Amino acid sequence: LRGVKPGFTGAGLDRADHLRLDPAALAVALDHAEARLLGMAGLDPMVDDEARLVWGAVAGDPARLLFLGFDAGAPLFAPLVEAEPVGARPAHLFRIMAAMDAREAAIWGAARALNEWHNRHRFCGQCGAASTPYRAGWGRRCAGCEAEMFPRVDPVVIMLAEHRGRVLVGRQHGWPPGRYSALAGFVEPGESIEEAVARELHEEAGVRVGDVRYVASQPWPFPSQLMIAYIAQAEDDRLSLDTKEIEDALWVDRAGVAAALAGKVAAPFLAPPPFAIAHTLLGRWTREG
Ligand SMILES: [Zn+2]
Repeated sequence: LRGVKPGFTGAGLDRADHLRLDPAALAVALDHAEARLLGMAGLDPMVDDEARLVWGAVAGDPARLLFLGFDAGAPLFAPLVEAEPVGARPAHLFRIMAAMDAREAAIWGAARALNEWHNRHRFCGQCGAASTPYRAGWGRRCAGCEAEMFPRVDPVVIMLAEHRGRVLVGRQHGWPPGRYSALAGFVEPGESIEEAVARELHEEAGVRVGDVRYVASQPWPFPSQLMIAYIAQAEDDRLSLDTKEIEDALWVDRAGVAAALAGKVAAPFLAPPPFAIAHTLLGRWTREG
């Protein structure tokens, strides 16, 4: 049943952190008969006709390989891909992601997010000198001041405000016609996740919330967010939209959300895709009713 578990989760790899700084153990993993290298076209996954990941033999400079972990004993690696940061995500990638197996999307998602991090941290933020990868791809070290950098994720809250059997969905400018989703925003320094949920709902929609309840989380590899999903109880259903941030917002009841998730033509909005945690969040809420 798609959409029950958040997308980009469930890779189930043994990440074997203890190997990352152990060159001898890494050499054994590289020479393993079942070692595999993830096929990537830039930052995108290479997939076959059935949208399955394409794997090849491990080759190239070991310093340019990212160790993803063990899959039932088989060591998995991904290439370190030099790519410019990608702005808008192309439609073809969304079609691939919609067809991909959830577990394989999670494995590629980790490789993509890690690569984005490397590409955005080529220079030291402290002294400006070049940095180089180490820890089997799970870190970089500055050649100038020896500062160590580790891959980070950016926490983003994504939430439904709920009021008397209806939830709030909104749409951003430029989205496909009819598409609405949960509102979202970055957690800022100096606030808790719950405070970020309340602030974003108030800033974007003018909604005041009381109780804020955690639902689920998902890594989102564009470039490296951690989406943290909540349902928050709204004090009332009056809206005051920040139209610079969102184009429109709607209160929708369970029947409307269920119709949207089922892709019904008469649904009040077009639902986010199953690999987005907004889909999971809407689905969980519908099943609570
Ligand atoms: Zn430095």
